[in-house]
Amino acid sequence: MRGENAIITGGARGIGESIARLLAKMGAAVIIWDVLEDQAKAAAAAIAKDIGVKTLGSAVDVTKAASVDTALDAAMKEFGKIDILVNNAGVTRDGLLIRMKEEDWDLVLAINLKGVWICTKAVGKVMLKARKGAIVNIASVVGVMGNAGQANYSASKAGVIGLTKTSAREFAQRGVRVNAVAPGYIRTAMTDKLSDEQRGRLRNMIPMGDLGTPDDVADAVAFLASDAAKYITGQTLNIDGGMVM
Ligand code: NDP
Repeated sequence: MRGENAIITGGARGIGESIARLLAKMGAAVIIWDVLEDQAKAAAAAIAKDIGVKTLGSAVDVTKAASVDTALDAAMKEFGKIDILVNNAGVTRDGLLIRMKEEDWDLVLAINLKGVWICTKAVGKVMLKARKGAIVNIASVVGVMGNAGQANYSASKAGVIGLTKTSAREFAQRGVRVNAVAPGYIRTAMTDKLSDEQRGRLRNMIPMGDLGTPDDVADAVAFLASDAAKYITGQTLNIDGGMVM
């Protein structure tokens, strides 16, 4: 990936940070977009120091087209082109469907689904003009199989899978590939909130018997973003220890 430039949304921590670090290790310059400016800049500076690639960290709210456009202008001024976009920013606001607050539905759909569309629209334009690009969206297995207590989250991630297929079809003839990964249960701040009992129940549902790691997700994203996947588009790859098959 030497000479390539990659944007990772929500890249300041968790799975997004692991993805940013792996792409940097593979030679890409990385641009971290995160809602908190200090965290975006700190993560970008740490990657530059540890791995020695060029980085940029910007405060971006993926739900706001103006915020994305401003950050993209800054990235284009600094780097000249964007080769890879990883739409990773995502949140949960769990609750049973009949008790779910409208604001929790709206927030999760705005960040997890509309945010992917906003970033794909802005960065996709640049890639289409260059006739080159790879976009990887972070969905979830619950977008495929549903999950009690996650009506908003599972709907947003199912939406991401549909959006992946449509953008793949629209962009295919102009050299831009779009794929998704659907992680199962991955050890991060998001899953640290689970009780021991919930974690035990989860392990029983996973054929490989354990939660995954952010690096497991990063490996699959790096593959889909690289030329090793140059004939793959519109696909969703499950990273879930065999939960969904
Ligand atoms: P984290 O909460 O650790 O990281 C998400 C990042 O996105 C945070 O840095 C967060 O910033 C940022 N973010 C939130 N809202 C916005 C916004 N509006 N604009 C820009 N950035 C934003 O989550 P994970 O690393 O666990 O998850 C990453 C992705 O993987 C998500 O899409 C998630 O749905 C998906 N996923 C995770 C699984 C898991 O088991 N952990 C399983 C399946 C999918 P801030 O720190 O301010 O909140």
